[in-house]
Amino acid sequence: MLKAHFSKLLSWFDSSNIKASENTSEAIDWLRVIPFILMHLACLLVLVYGWSPVALWVALFSYLIRMFAITAFYHRYFSHKAFKTSRACQFLFALLGATATQRGAIWWAAHHRQHHLYSDQDKDIHSPRHGFWWSHMGWFLCLKNFTTRERYVRDLIKFPELRWLDRFDILIPILYGISMWGFGFWLSISYPELHTSGGQMIVWGYFISTIALIHCTLCVNSLAHVMGSKRYITNDDSRNNGLVAFLTLGEGWHNNHHHYPVSARQGFFWWEIDVSYYLLTLMAYLGLVWDLQPIPVERLRANLISQEAER
Ligand SMILES: [Zn+2]
Ligand SMILES: [Zn+2]
Repeated sequence: MLKAHFSKLLSWFDSSNIKASENTSEAIDWLRVIPFILMHLACLLVLVYGWSPVALWVALFSYLIRMFAITAFYHRYFSHKAFKTSRACQFLFALLGATATQRGAIWWAAHHRQHHLYSDQDKDIHSPRHGFWWSHMGWFLCLKNFTTRERYVRDLIKFPELRWLDRFDILIPILYGISMWGFGFWLSISYPELHTSGGQMIVWGYFISTIALIHCTLCVNSLAHVMGSKRYITNDDSRNNGLVAFLTLGEGWHNNHHHYPVSARQGFFWWEIDVSYYLLTLMAYLGLVWDLQPIPVERLRANLISQEAER
């Protein structure tokens, strides 16, 4: 028992301390998720450190750039191979994605690929059919989904640098948080007129922006399978949800995405704002990514719900 507790404490720093064979329980694994709870409580430090315009701007930028790393790379690239990039760029965005504190790219992609294989069926790891809060948070707070199911990510585990990021998945967020503190401290010395501090910058630039980032990302799994409209007949409950799309730089067009997951764009029409896709187009123009998968015209028009109604 003591040994199991100790290995969970070690798993805060080295995820390889929990083995796949232990993956059975669907109960919240309180000891292991203490850091996740503390991150939420740390947002309350805003009552101590206050705010400043510069801290709010940094929080917004910190949110947006890491959301892009999650949506464009963790999701569209690592999970769905919706475009190609160099190994260096792949690593850089895996690194940036890791600061979002949603674990490593391999773990993220493995669970997401399983979600697409069994969407809203029994083997879907985070279907709202198993409970809304389960689909939002419960599924990753338990032991069952802690380890990476490697059979889904054979193409990714061959990269040792990605495996390293997955194993020590808390290290990069800690370094990011410390950098925020250092940045705020430097600003407080160099530009005192900005009225910021190390404490204020870590609260806004890391804790608040990361918690917002995590929950908005999770809304794709929970809300975008419950609320919104359906354009396509898919074998699941996926919805197009404009609010989730706004908050997640385009990921809320989730019914589109389940209809044709390999597409680099998820807003299929000009009015479906998809900022991640616009930025990917810019990166393609700069030669950083290439072979962005389009949505073929015949797929765009296939399985439309209104067509089905007419038959
Ligand atoms: Zn989904
Ligand atoms: Zn997906």
